[in-house]
Amino acid sequence: MAGSPTPRVSATVIFPKPTLQQVLDNLRASGFRLIGPTVRDGSVILGTLEKISELPIGRLLDQKAGNSRLLPTHSADYFACTVGPDSWKRYLFPARSDLLTARRNGDGWIFTPASDDSPPFAFIGVKSCDLHAIALQDEVFVNGTIGDPHYAHRRQRVFMLAVNCSTAASTCFCTSMSTGPHVRSGFDLALTELPDSFVMEIGSEAGSNALAGIDWQPASAFDLGRAAQVTQRTERLIQRQVTTSDLPQLLYERIDHPYWDTIAERCLSCANCTLVCPTCFCSTVEDHSDLNGNRTTRTRVWDSCFILDFSHVHGGNSRPTIKSRFRQWMTHKLGAWIDQFGRSGCVGCGRCIAWCPVGIDITEELNRLRTAGAR
Ligand code: SF4
Ligand code: SF4
Repeated sequence: MAGSPTPRVSATVIFPKPTLQQVLDNLRASGFRLIGPTVRDGSVILGTLEKISELPIGRLLDQKAGNSRLLPTHSADYFACTVGPDSWKRYLFPARSDLLTARRNGDGWIFTPASDDSPPFAFIGVKSCDLHAIALQDEVFVNGTIGDPHYAHRRQRVFMLAVNCSTAASTCFCTSMSTGPHVRSGFDLALTELPDSFVMEIGSEAGSNALAGIDWQPASAFDLGRAAQVTQRTERLIQRQVTTSDLPQLLYERIDHPYWDTIAERCLSCANCTLVCPTCFCSTVEDHSDLNGNRTTRTRVWDSCFILDFSHVHGGNSRPTIKSRFRQWMTHKLGAWIDQFGRSGCVGCGRCIAWCPVGIDITEELNRLRTAGAR
């Protein structure tokens, strides 16, 4: 069966690691721009991929509260790094994107919606927590009451090559949030890394086509067993646990608890946690006019509930203190999301823990609030 043109959807195949390059070449030949994890500035960020050698081979992200270090390892694994500060939202919901241009036309204006000429993306190496984060943003931008055509245009063309996690950082808590580490759905291809080969599950027709012409073999029961052991081992590595059964009530009942004063003494309101979060979606718009006032461009930019001006509306600011902004963030993320969307806004990726400059840990803070008792 080796080299069969296309395996069937939902089949699982196995091939030697270097063969992954042919899969990437197939995707590029189909018109995709490949985006995946690469080493840059001492961390792992998402960027354009040409070669599998650009993946963070033999590296590990050692992450703790307020700390993330890229370390060399003895392993030659391609996908051992857990998630870095970057997330896929940078490509689906860019930090800056033009929405429209207005041109003066006599006494009136002509409005032209911005066009998006970005190529379709193939996301390479999406972890299960991030697949869930994308699904959450889909709820807002695609299935929401208003929706966002810019996001939808990019999202509907994405090819998703997901990865079952083979390692966990001390900041990971996907098992508590039911978001990982095993990839269950929402992928075109899902890969498990073994020492000498990749086991690949085919989730769609597009995934099947991406394996056309490569030298794959059907995965044997032995191969499937080895792949299952990878995610089982990762599950055991995830030590951080969060109790979610009393959410959102816990947060609502303690909305005026003195606990929030103590966290406000530590939080810098820097917004790092919301910028690295793969589910946060708040934005604002900026209008830039030329000097003679004949042309204006409206641009959407990421914003954050930690920014003072974000809560400024006519008549004043509804969240003027750090205490009120931190409470808003945590109560929305872990509480009000459940009312709005039927699930938590947190996928347990741990980014906000690692990238908070003062080491504020959302899981610890929730536990502190719980053990502080009712007031
Ligand atoms: S919790 Fe940390 S990252 Fe978030 S705003 Fe406060 S100091 Fe910044
Ligand atoms: S709140 Fe923190 S742990 Fe949860 S999804 Fe956002 S960045 Fe990840």
